[in-house]
Amino acid sequence: MAEQNTQHIGVVGAGIIGICCALNLQRAGFSVTLYDENGLAQGCSKGNAGHFATEQVFPLAHPSLITKLPAMLLNPLGPLRIDWRHAFKAIPWFWLFMKNMHKDTYRANSEALKALNHDAINAYERLLNEYNLGYLLTKKGSLLTFEKTPMAQIMNLLNSYQAQGIAVDLLDADQVKALEPNLANTITHALMFKDVAHSVDPHLFCLNLAEQFSALGGQFCQRKITAIKPNDSGYTLVSDEQKYAVNKVVIAAGAWSDTLIKPLGYKVPLDTERGYHCMLASNYGLSRPVASAERNFIMTPMSQGLRVAGTVEFAGTKRKMNNKRALALLPNAKAMLNKSAISLHAQSTWMGCRPSLPDSLPVIGEAPLHSDLYFAFGHQHLGLTQGAITGELITALCLKKPTQVDTTPYCISRFSTHAACSSHIPHAQ
Ligand SMILES: Cc1cc2nc3c(=O)[nH]c(=O)nc-3n(C[C@H](O)[C@H](O)[C@H](O)COP(=O)(O)OP(=O)(O)OC[C@H]3O[C@@H](n4cnc5c(N)ncnc54)[C@H](O)[C@@H]3O)c2cc1C
Repeated sequence: MAEQNTQHIGVVGAGIIGICCALNLQRAGFSVTLYDENGLAQGCSKGNAGHFATEQVFPLAHPSLITKLPAMLLNPLGPLRIDWRHAFKAIPWFWLFMKNMHKDTYRANSEALKALNHDAINAYERLLNEYNLGYLLTKKGSLLTFEKTPMAQIMNLLNSYQAQGIAVDLLDADQVKALEPNLANTITHALMFKDVAHSVDPHLFCLNLAEQFSALGGQFCQRKITAIKPNDSGYTLVSDEQKYAVNKVVIAAGAWSDTLIKPLGYKVPLDTERGYHCMLASNYGLSRPVASAERNFIMTPMSQGLRVAGTVEFAGTKRKMNNKRALALLPNAKAMLNKSAISLHAQSTWMGCRPSLPDSLPVIGEAPLHSDLYFAFGHQHLGLTQGAITGELITALCLKKPTQVDTTPYCISRFSTHAACSSHIPHAQ
């Protein structure tokens, strides 16, 4: 723990990103208050698939998606759905998404994702080991399985991961069976990612971190922040009942971050890719996350059973969950598991709002038009993975110190003509 800093920082949003920012800022000596209208980790961070997926360095906006889109959209319970009531609002997002398919942009975005993922697990280890919580990361690798994909395509994928320096092995059916005997015989091959990890309870993971924050004097305030007003000594955070004076603010409000910063002059194409999960009572003997390349979903063994998760739905943050989309994951799980899972059924279902930007990169950085205002949102499918590294980067920026990753690609200015973020801060090599 560093020397006590007299500055008070307000972190808005207590999902995995806000909690990791708060803990890292506290470790650096700041006095920190975490604000969340719904309690600790009640948003997207509550029910994700628990996979620290550092291998995912490829942005979603890839030209190959265009040919697959029509079939995906025709299936209302398929892996991608756009609610017609949200379609008009989503047009600008999809326009930018298509623009990000350009090969140079795609390559640059991939490099930027890789830079964050590269140190993501080390950043968690630095954080967790500080509190003897290293056991919260389970390191058994993860599998991306194939049932029908031709070998040439699997080899292409393997080569593209290897070209990015990802630690990956190709396994045949027997090797998959040896690792996961309870997977179905239909699996012909799998890619085994070695430098990844998983959590057996992502909600408890957040709560354990938040507990450390409170134990060391961090404050949690269950309030909705409705406005952020700059003043001479920093900011006033306004809630319906009270106002709070802070010196610096970090916006980590996930899919709701855009509404908070719009009045300050920041327009950002943030939408939500809603995802679903089903919990099964047993984990069916799986010992690591198992994803299916063809069925577009993932199964992660957790302390309370097997979490079957995935799908993307564009329907905004306010509409109720569509339980049919969660339940539609079950036949996929059944097909991927051996006969022991023949009668599986959902113990519970859940929907969460992934905060997503069209280039698959988060916004991490100091606000270009305001000093002492910082952004940490838009982590899409990788918020759990990138929580600790985001916390470290935000802390370095708050301390006006060099960051270990160049944060230029994550600056909000990429979406507008604002001045660039904190470019005066050189990043450490
Ligand atoms: C089905 C599914 C599976 C996933 N699997 C993985 C995975 O395996 N690995 C991975 O890395 N990622 C995964 N993700 C993505 C990951 O869960 C998200 O990227 C991550 O949870 C985002 O965290 P966050 O803290 O930004 O947002 P959230 O967890 O949504 O937190 C934002 C918080 O801000 C609060 N808030 C909003 N507005 C205000 C306000 N005005 N005042 C006060 N509080 C406010 C909200 O109440 C909320 O608690 C998955 C997502 C889904 C849906």
